[in-house]
Amino acid sequence: MKAKRKYVYFFGGGKADGNAKMKNLLGGKGANIAEMVKLGMPVPPGFTLTTEACNEFYARKRKYPPGLKKEADNCLARVEKLMGTKFGDPKDPLLLSVRSGARASMPGMMETVLNIGMTSKTIPTLIKKTGNPRFVYDAYRRLIAMYSDVVMEKAAGIEPEEGKGIRAQLEGLIGKIKKRKGYETDLDLTAEDWKKLTVQFKKTVKKVLGKPFPDDPAKQLWGSIDAVFLSWFGKRAVSYRRIEGLPDDWGTAVSVQTMVFGNMGDDCATGVAFTRNPATGDNNFYGEWLINAQGEDVVAGIRTPFAINEVSKVVTNKHLPTLEKHMPKLYKQLDAIRHKLDTHYTDMQDIEFTVQNDILYMLQTRVGKRNGPAAIKMAVDMVKERLISKETALTRVRPEQLDELLHPMLDVKAEKLAKKLGVGLPAGPGGGVGRIVLTADRAEELGEKGENVILVREETSPEDVHGMKPSQAILTSKGGMTSHAALVARGWGKCCIVGCSDISHIDMKKKTINFNGKVLKEGDWISMNGTKGVVYDGKVSLKITGPGKNPSYKKLMTWADEIRRLKVRTNADTPEDAKVAISLGAEGIGLTRTEHMFFGDRIWAMREMIMAEDTKGREKALAKLLPMQRKDFYGIFKAMNGRPVTIRLLDPPLHEFVPHEKASQKEMAARLGITVKAVAAKTDFLSEFNPMLGHRGCRLGITYPEITAMQARAIFEAVVKCKKGKIRVSPEIMVPLVGTAQEFKDQKAIIDRVAKEVMKKAKVKFKYMVGTMIEVPRAALAADRIAQDAEFFSFGTNDLTQMTFGYSRDDAGTFLPDYVQKKILPDDPFQSIDQAGVGELMELGVKRGRSIRKGLKIGICGEHGGEPSSVGFCHRIGLDYVSCSPFRVPIARLAAAQAVLAERPSKRKKKR
Ligand code: PEP
Ligand code: MG
Repeated sequence: MKAKRKYVYFFGGGKADGNAKMKNLLGGKGANIAEMVKLGMPVPPGFTLTTEACNEFYARKRKYPPGLKKEADNCLARVEKLMGTKFGDPKDPLLLSVRSGARASMPGMMETVLNIGMTSKTIPTLIKKTGNPRFVYDAYRRLIAMYSDVVMEKAAGIEPEEGKGIRAQLEGLIGKIKKRKGYETDLDLTAEDWKKLTVQFKKTVKKVLGKPFPDDPAKQLWGSIDAVFLSWFGKRAVSYRRIEGLPDDWGTAVSVQTMVFGNMGDDCATGVAFTRNPATGDNNFYGEWLINAQGEDVVAGIRTPFAINEVSKVVTNKHLPTLEKHMPKLYKQLDAIRHKLDTHYTDMQDIEFTVQNDILYMLQTRVGKRNGPAAIKMAVDMVKERLISKETALTRVRPEQLDELLHPMLDVKAEKLAKKLGVGLPAGPGGGVGRIVLTADRAEELGEKGENVILVREETSPEDVHGMKPSQAILTSKGGMTSHAALVARGWGKCCIVGCSDISHIDMKKKTINFNGKVLKEGDWISMNGTKGVVYDGKVSLKITGPGKNPSYKKLMTWADEIRRLKVRTNADTPEDAKVAISLGAEGIGLTRTEHMFFGDRIWAMREMIMAEDTKGREKALAKLLPMQRKDFYGIFKAMNGRPVTIRLLDPPLHEFVPHEKASQKEMAARLGITVKAVAAKTDFLSEFNPMLGHRGCRLGITYPEITAMQARAIFEAVVKCKKGKIRVSPEIMVPLVGTAQEFKDQKAIIDRVAKEVMKKAKVKFKYMVGTMIEVPRAALAADRIAQDAEFFSFGTNDLTQMTFGYSRDDAGTFLPDYVQKKILPDDPFQSIDQAGVGELMELGVKRGRSIRKGLKIGICGEHGGEPSSVGFCHRIGLDYVSCSPFRVPIARLAAAQAVLAERPSKRKKKR
């Protein structure tokens, strides 16, 4: 008989059914709570309903599998025994919290209900027990607000307009009483005020939602559990999963836990902290806390959180007490726990704690989000501290996070001259420049059109995530370093400032922001320095600084280079780009697009060539281009100093070089001494129905062999010049858009002939290679025949994707976002290689090419060469190198190392 599935896992009193390894089943939160209990840390007891229970709940049309409720009841009885109180017992009630917990942290995406078990029967006892009616009614109103919002509104599928939801309406009632009585903060409300409010709350809930708030503890508990499971398919959670690429079938776990209160008086507190600094990576305890408060108060931005110690202080809490000073004994205990967690997990933890009547409780620990520079520093430091291996350190940094070191920053000089609008907390480093937008929807709309926008809100909530992603930066007037905006931005490495109290008012109706008297409108430009936390008026120019002398970055990249097998080259068309790429670790050039060299002044020689009637005329014009091209290639060879340089022959259709508007056609006619009619006729002649599939690539070189000859001559003469100047050089000439072996043969014959002529004339011998791009599907299929002559391959995955799918590169933007959103495709195939289709062709190309020419050098130079998952794929199919834009070189280096590491466990398994 199959063993009965266990759906509920107990924890408490030093014992736990689960452990940290069981994240898939217990969610991150449940698994880590179990681990903390096992580590002997003070954790309020409770139990976790598994993610399998969640999936079963959906499979059974919102019903629980048999036996689940009984398991939960048994666990509840154990909790009651440990606590010496009973859930719903009017004489001595136990209160519970219900929280969600997926495998990966989804900050604020799903629901939480606190203070469950407060009813008309238990409230009097709670007042008697605590002697604190203010606290009890405050807790009760929080329960009513959370429950009505999470269970009665959201889980019931009610979607009110923005600002009209039940929670907002209830908060409006608090606002009213504060205004009427002249109170400044919630702390000013008395027990009587809260009591009255709870009555009003219940009335409002009944009126707005048509049902009473339940006065039954069991109903409160199971209603909350249902709602948390239902929140897995809530709008926010689904949208977050789409952005992060997380699957729907993970499900969420639910943890039910004994309530502890940080808001029962001045011997109570609550806080959020990190075992290391998540913004810099420094190895010091970093966090925020509040005295006499509930956890949500720290992150909600209603009160300015205090720093837990001196090093955590920022501008806004410089003058406020630290936990270290105010509760030194508890701080010491917490600091010891911090050390234990940091070394036990060997990774930075994000923890939540509460102090109830001078007793410390740990509520949560999880791997903390960090920005790129911090991720690098922590990883390298932990190797030095002998906590982790170099290999593990390499997996601790997501390749995209390196971007943050290459982040645009505000230009220092321009920043000095800029007009300061306000200051806030530096939640996400780097610079951001954009137009103000006040709603997430507008940010999404404009951001998708490619406009630079900055989302400005009082504070963000998970409902804003879709608009935060496309924004250049995020600015909030409220919130601390652990607020939603700060957490989400840090995870993405986005420029972000929170708690900017210089914003005195945001008027959503008039669409204005008041910065201490200066009023800006939606659409106005602002600039932000997220590293310092300063907001400026207008546009300040941005600058990319590069990783510079960051020692941790250098170390990590050295380790990556030791491990990776793939070489990393760059796509560069100028000596300047080539130099930047070398400084970022490029080992060669994988693609020089020569067409970029024919613009500017040279366009006239190019146009003369295009207008020529015959070969002679073309040769005459090409002779003018020859010295210019030679100079270009010489410059690049010199910058690359012996590293391989792949130069691609002319690729785009000729119509791209002629003007289409009348005025420019007139100018061309005048400059070339021909009639406007002739120019217009030529433009007409060159126009094609499908230029991407037309007269371009090697097709140009076949009809106009003199173009190939000129380019080959320019390359070889530059090689000769290098040789004579003792500059090492290793040229690779690449023929574009080849589909048949014969096309390649034709072009190679021209190149080889010119090479011979140049060598003979200069009396210098040099080596060179001639290879081809594999970017037409037929070339991948005919790779064996092409490899008879081609000395190297480079996958042009931009065109290969275009032609394999039949999606126009230039028009796919009109439908691809829908394809991704509707899951017709998992990703945009122009960003991340479509491994099942385009990838199959690549694998075939590699296999067939190398079946003829063993060890054939193969690379990739499409945009995918700098995208981490595509780099992993290129490693797996045995390419020799990837080539990408200069600023993606470090990303490719790290991704290539991670590709090697990803193979290791499976190899070990095979050996066993
Ligand atoms: C390609 O097609 O992948 C490629 C690198 O060439 P281009 O983008 O210039 O067409
Ligand atoms: Mg191409």
